[in-house]
Amino acid sequence: MYACPSCGGGLRFDIPSQKLKCDHCETLTDPYSLEERKDAGMDNTFGVTVFTCPQCGGEVMTTDESITGFCMFCGASTVLDARMENHKRPQKIITFKKTKEDCKNIYRRLVGGAIFAPKELKDPDYLEKFRGIYIPYWMYTITYDGPYSISGTTTEASVGYINTNHYKIHCDMDVEYTGISYDASASFDDHVSEAISPFMSAHAQDFTPPMLSGFYADTADVDSSVYREDALKAAQNNLIAGIRSNNTLNKYTMTDLDSSFNSMGKVECENAEAGLGLFPVWFLTYRSSKNRVAYAVVNAESGEISADLPVSIPKYIISSMAVAAAIFALLFFLFTPTPGIALFAAAAFAVISLIVYGAEIHAIKRRHGKYDDKGFYAKYGALENQDDIRRYCTASGAVGSILAIIAAIAIAIWQPVDDWIYYAGAIGAIIGVCITMSAIIRRVNILNTRPLPEFHFRKGGDDSAKDL
Ligand SMILES: [Zn+2]
Ligand SMILES: [Zn+2]
Repeated sequence: MYACPSCGGGLRFDIPSQKLKCDHCETLTDPYSLEERKDAGMDNTFGVTVFTCPQCGGEVMTTDESITGFCMFCGASTVLDARMENHKRPQKIITFKKTKEDCKNIYRRLVGGAIFAPKELKDPDYLEKFRGIYIPYWMYTITYDGPYSISGTTTEASVGYINTNHYKIHCDMDVEYTGISYDASASFDDHVSEAISPFMSAHAQDFTPPMLSGFYADTADVDSSVYREDALKAAQNNLIAGIRSNNTLNKYTMTDLDSSFNSMGKVECENAEAGLGLFPVWFLTYRSSKNRVAYAVVNAESGEISADLPVSIPKYIISSMAVAAAIFALLFFLFTPTPGIALFAAAAFAVISLIVYGAEIHAIKRRHGKYDDKGFYAKYGALENQDDIRRYCTASGAVGSILAIIAAIAIAIWQPVDDWIYYAGAIGAIIGVCITMSAIIRRVNILNTRPLPEFHFRKGGDDSAKDL
């Protein structure tokens, strides 16, 4: 905790003024003026308190010694273990621009429209738990420098012939991309960081430790090499698009543009410390009675939000039954379907539900197996054997719809004379579809929440980012 120069009270970063404000006398202090006294001569590290959750092993750091007694990763109310450490200094920081009040309003707008969400998600006491946390990002600088040649052609069509001219185009490139960034924390889901992107890294300021006062920061534990290729690709795509639309060059057809770039480009992030930045988010954790967690994350610069919205199953069943009853009544009132059409429609529903079920299972496998989370995957590998995948990614939920399709096919081949057999088949098939639908809803909920995190296996990490 930094002390107020006027009265000695505790200083906290104040979002509206972008300065440090004294808890006691409200004096505003420039964060850079403090650092010069405090950290003179210590360029590469800064002292932080690291808090570890005894239940899940999740870690946050802060320059405050005080912390409220719950864990943002698993939502447990518990006393966190604290230890002092020296961490490598980030170079850049984007400070909080959205206040907690702004953030709550953004969240309320989103959840207000989610009619199936459990009512606890709208509880004001729960919203108080939004916590300001800085997420570490690797910021890559990519330069293209020097002479470069491209092959280009132009064609002119005239009566009877086509004239093709070949050119060798020589350019001198001097392009620099700065701040292409990817989150450097394995515990921060890449899905979330993508959903709340972008941060305007051009607005990043030089980091100084007092700016952390009143906030937390996640630790950087993904190696900077993990996203290097992605950063290079992003810069390259942008540059190629720029060349294609360039006013001088856009009259040529350039066929070898993509391939020739693969051998170019230089990522200026040889040592990872060159590019660590802290970006601000508001973070909220919901722990359900079934011991699953849901996160709401707000980009504290732009206000972009990403939230896991679990579905309250009783709420969902009541409203969907009401809707289904209304649709059926309307259908039968307007058209009286022939027996064959009724059966065919039921079978079609069964096929659709099977496709949806398959898509849900696939999504759970990818999401909960962490295949798409590059940072996590690089560090820990896929979580193929996870409970969620074993339990929910099975064919059992599809049985209702499969039986419905088999019954419909059997009746279609049999072609009985009695109409009632078709209707009975159709009703039976719809019941089968309903069984599969309920399995689908359970899986939607699995997808919209997360298992309790487990970071105890978290070790090692990026040596360049860890303490010295
Ligand atoms: Zn003061
Ligand atoms: Zn925890």
